[in-house]
Amino acid sequence: MQVIETIEALRAARRILHGRVGVVPTMGALHEGHLSLARLARAENETVIVTIFVNPTQFAASEDLAKYPRTLAQDIATLEAAGVDVIFTPSTDLIYPSGYQTYVEVEQVTQRLEGAIRPGHFRGVATVVAKLFNLTQPTTAYFGQKDAQQVVVIRRMAADLNFPLEITVCPTIREFDGLAMSSRNVYLSPEQRIAAPALCRAMIAAAETYEAGEREPERLRALAASVLAAEPLIEPEYISLAHPATLVEAEAATNDPLLLSLAARLGTTRLLDNILLPARLNDRQGLTATLGVPA
Ligand code: AMP
Repeated sequence: MQVIETIEALRAARRILHGRVGVVPTMGALHEGHLSLARLARAENETVIVTIFVNPTQFAASEDLAKYPRTLAQDIATLEAAGVDVIFTPSTDLIYPSGYQTYVEVEQVTQRLEGAIRPGHFRGVATVVAKLFNLTQPTTAYFGQKDAQQVVVIRRMAADLNFPLEITVCPTIREFDGLAMSSRNVYLSPEQRIAAPALCRAMIAAAETYEAGEREPERLRALAASVLAAEPLIEPEYISLAHPATLVEAEAATNDPLLLSLAARLGTTRLLDNILLPARLNDRQGLTATLGVPA
């Protein structure tokens, strides 16, 4: 395995690669969720590149950039054991050298959900992912369902800017009690950690009711809200039931697939989770065919 820190070395390594190249962009502090992407990439490509870069442009000034967990030595060992070929871990100065002034704006799907709460977040995400695509030139890039809106934004960008690659969406990997794995879960206090799986329970309650025939968006949202309301440590930020490509909120009952997304605060920590309805779509095939794909 090669650990590459410079753009010249990455370009030189990329130039001599043949066959399919799978790329997994991450911010490090790796857990089983990231590893599931790396393993799938390993199974489907001649070469696997994992990028580790804590991207400052996707953090607002008030956010956790400085305290974002960094575990590079451990991440390298884990990725080596997973059979990854190349880790690209550039410094901030290499990605944003002095004089840097070019950004990618995806207009509509970035305005909703996370975009409404974190202005500028997806501008940073789209910019760094475009740069990482140009540098690594993936055949297929692997993203997690966990950040469903990110998938929608990246797919829109890749289509609009004609990036010649495929995007695969991997299901959310969870802790034993349903909490979606996240590098930010380490911020939770023991009490908050006990409360946190209510997000998953709220989604399951909505999915079960959907399965039983409920299609009224407002009733499905209200059901998820009632599960969250039972946890005093959880402050919900949004409960969205929206079209999985436009992220426009569903108003009328429909049998078309919908994305239920939840965001909540536990103290200063924000947690996100989501599920596609109907629930059978939450495997790799269903997610890849639905999230960010115009109906
Ligand atoms: P991050 O390091 O948080 O930027 O995440 C890197 C990639 O891993 C993104 O595509 C995430 O959606 C994905 N990811 C994060 N958490 C999970 C999870 N629990 N299950 C599956 N994928 C995940």
